[in-house]
Amino acid sequence: MDTTGKVIKCKAAVAWEPNTPLVIEEIEVAPPQVHEVRIKIVATAVCHTDLYHLYEGMHKDGFPVVLGHEAAGIVESVGAEVTEFRPGDKVIPVFLSQCRECRFCKSPKTNQCVKAWSEMRMEVMCPVDSGFSCKGKKILKFGGLGTFTEYTVVRQINLAKIHPDAPLDKVCLIGCGICTGYGSAVNTAKVEEGSTCAVFGLGAVGLAAVMGCKAAGAKRIIAVDTNPEKFEKAKIIGATDFVNPTDHSKPIHEVLQEMTDGGVDFSIECVGSASVMQSALHSTIKAWGVSVIVGYTLVQNITVQPVDLISGRTWRGALFGGFKGKDGVMEMVKCYMEKKMMVDEFITHNMDLDNVMEAVELMKKSKCVRAVLKTSPQ
Ligand code: NAD
Ligand code: ZN
Ligand code: ZN
Repeated sequence: MDTTGKVIKCKAAVAWEPNTPLVIEEIEVAPPQVHEVRIKIVATAVCHTDLYHLYEGMHKDGFPVVLGHEAAGIVESVGAEVTEFRPGDKVIPVFLSQCRECRFCKSPKTNQCVKAWSEMRMEVMCPVDSGFSCKGKKILKFGGLGTFTEYTVVRQINLAKIHPDAPLDKVCLIGCGICTGYGSAVNTAKVEEGSTCAVFGLGAVGLAAVMGCKAAGAKRIIAVDTNPEKFEKAKIIGATDFVNPTDHSKPIHEVLQEMTDGGVDFSIECVGSASVMQSALHSTIKAWGVSVIVGYTLVQNITVQPVDLISGRTWRGALFGGFKGKDGVMEMVKCYMEKKMMVDEFITHNMDLDNVMEAVELMKKSKCVRAVLKTSPQ
């Protein structure tokens, strides 16, 4: 049945309020407007940032919302003035827009795009105009994407066209976790050959950071997590040393300083905790260490003594691993298709959209790396 130009009724997981379970509902998805593309989501994964919005973000005006921003799908129809996409194209939505025209997009110094900030309420990550409704209520879209659904509508500047043979139930991870972690090592930290690195937090983001450190030629990669079940995966991906902070009575940065004759060259924080961000900074060698903040928090502050930086350290942060939105996704899918990069190894669970709460609970308890939810057959 041709759905072009019509409202589509489909299944989606709706977060009606903060701190309450998502509910599978029938929603209405409006046809794509000018510069927009409607896509059929084939697979979507749960990222910690979805949980953060649901449980800790405290954005009461960010509800009701369809969460989810790590996904892959197929173009169903396109709005006016869309020339880059056609029905049937395989695509990955990306929360960081790339319009290619603004001052930010034209600068190689940033991967941010002015349109992300001006057209979306970035502080709540939910644009007001969503095209989603349920039971007569307007439903927001997390990250401008809202992928825990069978269909969604996204702006063409938030969409990357990918290889027609790409397996959507795998490459969906490239839409957030893999690019974020990998890029934080190669683009943001700029890890050097022969260096020693530490990665804090071994979820998909941290494991992808380990993969990036390895690709950049690091000789020693210390994987740090309070859940020792994560070490096996980290080893497969390339970590050489494993540290569980709960095994030590000393502060973790002292443990790492002792292991590395004064500190690591690069550290990457992939947890989202201010105290871990501070530990990660102090774990680097004081004369030239570079520490990157990847984990997300809006409610905690970090403190630093000036001398920690005066001595020569650099403290940085990045969204989406410093990759430009569309370009990063396309480049990483290409790497995966050429077998230069792991993705399948990050998937610990495969489920259906109906089981989204099971996936959320696994993530909350740190019992999975990525749970991929199939929304419809490829
Ligand atoms: P995740 O929950 O799968 O992984 C977090 C890991 O940290 C878990 O393995 C957990 O056991 C470990 N951990 C918890 N406390 C720890 C501690 N004190 N010390 C060491 N390890 C600890 O999450 P994820 O999906 O991999 O995301 C990681 C972080 O990155 C989140 O904060 C998320 O919001 C953020 N994120 C940021 C961006 C960005 O663009 N900057 C994008 C995606 C995700
Ligand atoms: Zn994410
Ligand atoms: Zn732009």
